[in-house]
Amino acid sequence: MDDIPIPIAVVGIGKIARDQHLPAIAASPAFELAAVVSAHADDLDVPALRTIEALAAALPEVRAVAICTPPIGRHALIAAAFRAGLHVLIEKPPAATLAEAEGFAALAAAAGRGFYATWHAREAPAVAPARAWLADKQVRRTEIRWLEDVRVWHPGQQWIWKPGIGVFDPGINAFSIATHILPGPLAVQEAALHFPENRDAPIAAELALADGHGAPVDVQFSFDQQGPQRWDIRVETDRGMLDLVEGGNRLLIDGAPVPVPHLPEYHRIYARFADIVADGRIDADLAPFRLVADAFLLGTRRTAAPFFDQIEEKNTKRMAI
Ligand code: NAP
Repeated sequence: MDDIPIPIAVVGIGKIARDQHLPAIAASPAFELAAVVSAHADDLDVPALRTIEALAAALPEVRAVAICTPPIGRHALIAAAFRAGLHVLIEKPPAATLAEAEGFAALAAAAGRGFYATWHAREAPAVAPARAWLADKQVRRTEIRWLEDVRVWHPGQQWIWKPGIGVFDPGINAFSIATHILPGPLAVQEAALHFPENRDAPIAAELALADGHGAPVDVQFSFDQQGPQRWDIRVETDRGMLDLVEGGNRLLIDGAPVPVPHLPEYHRIYARFADIVADGRIDADLAPFRLVADAFLLGTRRTAAPFFDQIEEKNTKRMAI
């Protein structure tokens, strides 16, 4: 790795860019924030450009971009970044469709630039120790419970209810861990997808998967979890029970906590991206995204109660007064 930090721009300054990317870049010895590409964010201490083309023209020293926009519309951004000779990191999910996502590695290869389709949950501190512990065990059954409140984690976001991803936006985080720690390839066997009657994306899903040795993987995803939030994976093996809880942050073996090294997910992501930039590598595992696509192919569609976010609920109450 070069000693000089790599000038990087963040594209799309929303929740995840502000919560994680900007702080992780500030803490990274390998990167230095040089600009943002944003339609709105003019409050940061770096230039804000409106497009990647404008970024490349104004700041040719920028070498990399982190794309933190919603999955719809990624192709145009990624193609523009490679045309400008930039190395590219993207947030999960990689794209709006599988075909679109499958094209990114070819774009990177043609440009001769590094490309990192990140899975932040895979970088959670307890995931690598869980994978190591499972490596010599026989998995008998896995249970995944990824239950969160969309009102808390995606306040007011409209893109999440566009046709497509819905509850699989967090669910794909569970898939990114499961495809990394369980014997592969995982396969969807059955799925039930619950669509609020006023939305085009599912708010909940139950899935039956099998791992690469045929052991069952029972999955529940919800975007409507009131009370404690759960991001848990339990794996029963021939020699004990593994619990990966709090989104891969804590590990228990047979109920006893196992100490894990504490390095935040996004710090790990930027350390890996520095290596990817250094040797122009492509890291684009689409296995978690394929499971989502298969769930939509196989899934039974069920109608659920209508969903209203906080703003819509407030407006409805105001109109009723
Ligand atoms: P968000 O708060 O809605 O921010 C997305 C940003 O992208 C917007 O602020 C906007 O930035 C830009 N943008 C460009 N085109 C847009 C469009 N058509 N609709 C909405 N925004 C558009 O979303 P987010 O929660 O940060 O999620 C972004 C990506 O990160 C998603 O792929 C999501 O799965 C992933 N992610 C989110 C979380 C989380 O906790 N929310 C966690 C991990 C990963 P400008 O105004 O700057 O142009």
